[in-house]
Amino acid sequence: ATTEIYTLSLHDALPILHTPSSFLNGQWVTGTGTPLTLLDPTTGDSIGQVHDEGLDLAGALSYGRTVGGPTLRSMTFAERGLILKGWGRAIHTARDELLDLARIDSGNTRSDGKFDIDGAAGTLSYYAYVGKTLGDVRVLAEGEPEPLTRSSARMVGHHYNVPRHGIAVHLNAFNFPAWGLCEKAACAILAGVPVLAKPAVETSLVAARIVELWHEQGLIPDGVLQLLVGEPRDLLDHLEGQDCVAFTGSGNTGRVIRTHPRVLALGIPVNVEADSLNAAVLGPDVEPGSDTFIMAVADISRDMTQKAGQKCTAVRRIVVPEAHAEAMVEALGERLADLKAGDPADRAFRVGPLATAKQHQDILAGIAALEDAHERVWGDPSARPDTGYFVAPQLFLAKGGENAALVHKSEVFGPVATVIPYDGTSESAQRIVAAGGGGLVCSIYSNDLKWARPTITGLMPWHGRIVWGSKKVHDQSIGPGTVLPNFVHGGPGAAGGGEELGGERGLSFYWQRVALQGDRGLIERLMR
Ligand code: NAP
Repeated sequence: ATTEIYTLSLHDALPILHTPSSFLNGQWVTGTGTPLTLLDPTTGDSIGQVHDEGLDLAGALSYGRTVGGPTLRSMTFAERGLILKGWGRAIHTARDELLDLARIDSGNTRSDGKFDIDGAAGTLSYYAYVGKTLGDVRVLAEGEPEPLTRSSARMVGHHYNVPRHGIAVHLNAFNFPAWGLCEKAACAILAGVPVLAKPAVETSLVAARIVELWHEQGLIPDGVLQLLVGEPRDLLDHLEGQDCVAFTGSGNTGRVIRTHPRVLALGIPVNVEADSLNAAVLGPDVEPGSDTFIMAVADISRDMTQKAGQKCTAVRRIVVPEAHAEAMVEALGERLADLKAGDPADRAFRVGPLATAKQHQDILAGIAALEDAHERVWGDPSARPDTGYFVAPQLFLAKGGENAALVHKSEVFGPVATVIPYDGTSESAQRIVAAGGGGLVCSIYSNDLKWARPTITGLMPWHGRIVWGSKKVHDQSIGPGTVLPNFVHGGPGAAGGGEELGGERGLSFYWQRVALQGDRGLIERLMR
């Protein structure tokens, strides 16, 4: 399916043109029309083409509902878990090949590629384990049966979670082609719902190769997983009432999908994971040079630069007491000085290019806006290769707390963050963070329970996840940017209002919860 066209050049180099296909209606298909060109972000060279016109998307949705759905619903959780186990193993076995593809397709350094690809395999294997634990049942009851009247224990009501009879359409962002595909698919498949996944076109090579590997190894029961490599075109026009849509991407696209006429008319559930201006907040008790301060610096510098800052969970706003703002800039600058932007194939460079030309333009425009509104306090924008979509890590300083308008509204999706000094009070820290309108994750660094209590509890309603750094765990941080499958991922407001993962919680989006009322004995026999 991922055809490779080899062209001999005079210098004996072998440029490879990848032409990833879509896996729809049980077969690999290539569309027609003017191709979309895939570019290597390190060089700007063409590495492939996608033909996506004329694909039968209505047929594919129907195929998933009628072929994949019944197959999955006939399987137990343990059996569905075995599918995920095989998928995780297949990714792990092809790890090096996928890491190479991630480099040419997305500009990932080896370490960045591992974050995506190992994260994908790990999430699948975690959900395989959840499936094994849920065991040899097909439907899950919730809680215990409850009598409807005081006079009789026979007439009861009991909640059951049943898989929807539609197909889950998964629309994924460009930055995590492997993990995005797998974290969504793991939950839907384990819940018993077939999937049509659409990676972002421009970084679709890794996702296409993964699905190809699964198919080659006979790991995809017919209709259970389909892949659209191409633009969405009329996909959403063919949704039916039992379908659902899980989307990761920009807030603007999220709004378009949420208000799609078909989605509104049929009340189709939509989960949105969108932009997030994640904050890291240093408590007033944390002295520069202390264990907790060093932990904050390590977390922030890692999250700013991993995947060249193209992580929805990356730290964008660094909220620091006024007295320590200079020390924070200095300490971050020392760390960032070792994290230079350059060729991801060369291990001397830790920050690869941005994944696409459009991202590059958007990030340069975002930096220009930050330059106008705030002050650059660290980083040399010219410290980058001349070709490719590189951006050097940079730090800005925004005064004015929650009134520093731009930094609370504009997500610059690259290796860029802004320090916001504050007066050290919990109220002020909360107001500044909340000015971002809701986020995926916030990290708080403090050893003072009196300050941390109101700050953390005050910020909880604004986030899907909060990481509390302190001297007790200063050497155990995996960073706030790491999303683990057993904890929820998502956030309110600007972050999209969605929720994914979180172990068994992640399955509920794909289920209908039904309160079944009647004779206790009959219900138990029916649902056994
Ligand atoms: P995007 O432009 O919104 O695209 C996301 C996906 O939606 C792509 O597959 C895109 O397809 C598809 N799409 C675009 N328009 C559509 C439409 N009208 N109907 C159906 N699908 C449509 O976002 P992106 O540039 O790939 O991703 C960057 C953003 O994602 C960042 O803002 C980041 O914060 C956010 N993000 C959030 C999370 C999270 O978990 N919260 C994770 C990662 C990224 P095409 O490729 O064909 O355009």
